[in-house]
Amino acid sequence: MRANTAQPRRLALILVLILISQFSLSAQQKPDCTVRVTLLQVNDVYQFAPVDLGARGGIARVLTLKQEIENHSPNTLFLLAGDTISPSVESITYKGSQMIDAWNASGLDYATFGNHEFDFGPDVLRQRMKESRFKWVAANVIDKKTGKPFGDAQAYVVREFDGVKVGIFGLTLEETKTTSRPGADVEFLNPCETAKKMVSELHARGVKTVVALTHLSMSEDKEVARCADVDVIIGGHEHTLLESVSGGAPIFKMTADARELGQIDLNISRDTGAVESIDSKVIPVTSKTKEDARFKSLYRKYGALLKELSQVVGRSSVELDARSAVGRKQETNVGNFVADSFRAATGADVGLMNGGSIRADEIIGPGPLTKRDVLSILPFKNRVVKLELTGALLRSALEHGVARSAEDKEPGRFPQVSGVRFAFDARRPPGSRIVELTVNGKPLDEKKKYTLATTEYVGIDGGDGYAMLKEARLLTPREQGQFDSDVLQAAIAVKKVIAPKVEGRIKRLDKDQRQNLDCR
Ligand SMILES: [Zn+2]
Repeated sequence: MRANTAQPRRLALILVLILISQFSLSAQQKPDCTVRVTLLQVNDVYQFAPVDLGARGGIARVLTLKQEIENHSPNTLFLLAGDTISPSVESITYKGSQMIDAWNASGLDYATFGNHEFDFGPDVLRQRMKESRFKWVAANVIDKKTGKPFGDAQAYVVREFDGVKVGIFGLTLEETKTTSRPGADVEFLNPCETAKKMVSELHARGVKTVVALTHLSMSEDKEVARCADVDVIIGGHEHTLLESVSGGAPIFKMTADARELGQIDLNISRDTGAVESIDSKVIPVTSKTKEDARFKSLYRKYGALLKELSQVVGRSSVELDARSAVGRKQETNVGNFVADSFRAATGADVGLMNGGSIRADEIIGPGPLTKRDVLSILPFKNRVVKLELTGALLRSALEHGVARSAEDKEPGRFPQVSGVRFAFDARRPPGSRIVELTVNGKPLDEKKKYTLATTEYVGIDGGDGYAMLKEARLLTPREQGQFDSDVLQAAIAVKKVIAPKVEGRIKRLDKDQRQNLDCR
């Protein structure tokens, strides 16, 4: 009996040993050959709480997803491809520190500068960098005084995973110099030239896998991919889900506000250190993913503000066009509604708002309108004031409003109006472009006195060049004026449902050649 049972037992043991040896061989072989490094990507994130009335986004949800991915892909780096400190309603108060708090809680590894990082000037950005528990990488953003990357940013970082080295360098739009406020001491070097230099420095350090973390336009990203030997570009700026290949390198961009999390797996040869293949997927960040509990303290800190901003004040049954490039060149339905609300709140004959002070820079609705929407349209807390002026002065103010319409792409002075209708021809010389002008249905009388509602910025301070209005008689002392956002909110609340239209208050007679409406 014993001999009979011992025989098959021994056989089974041998079989098990063979199986174990084969299994462990294949288990050893795989990591021996390939190292997987996972890049998690977000870009252009201006709010840490979920957006789209809670349906999408939210960095606390991203952290939950990150945790799950890290469980089976331990070599994970979490990357932000720029734009987070501005613009947002929260940043009016916190100047981006609320986002740094959120990134710190999320375990972000590296960020590069977007153009909006400099919106509050270089000193505020330096302060935000000091608060960051992650590293900023910026190869082409140089402090002229030191010749080194701005603040305590590094041109690149090198990370080693299971014996393979991965280098990450950062690039930012050169136009940041003029579209934001980096100050005189910050220069932006050519992305392509910088990328070439970074790649050769990284190669010299034995790094074979190179990641460019960028905030550039897609055409510039493609150029970088062609001119430098990068393996992958993690980019941003367009707010559009984009995927492209150039010069053999894939380029990935998510939309904005963490509505998606990009997962890019680099399968790197342990022998050569080079990328053998790349797997990628776009993970939607939705209410199906629960928020990581580590964000609780953040919600405690900012909860009251978030709650206030999410209050619904009314609805719009139409799309509200608050795009900057549109409101600075033509009549918009938002411009009409704002100017109407100023006029109604003060009982003035005419309402005027400079297009440059209408923000948000997006189409809002149709749907519920929150306090956040109102403040994103009018973020500056300007007081609405009432002036008395002659028809001649009103005409010259409106002439000023269209005096740069042929010359500049987006003149902030462009007037959004209520109570007046006018036609202008931008081929005519500045100062005599208006060819038709009526006030409340009657031709303007140059000698007659009219009342005008506008902001203190335009009406008292002469902002956007409206210095001529200093000649008008001020009927509301500045401090008695209501805040523009309060006026707008009240006008929405009274109507409950708004549906403003573009109704031909402003007609442009020459054909405008400029079509660049989608710059961010
Ligand atoms: Zn940007």
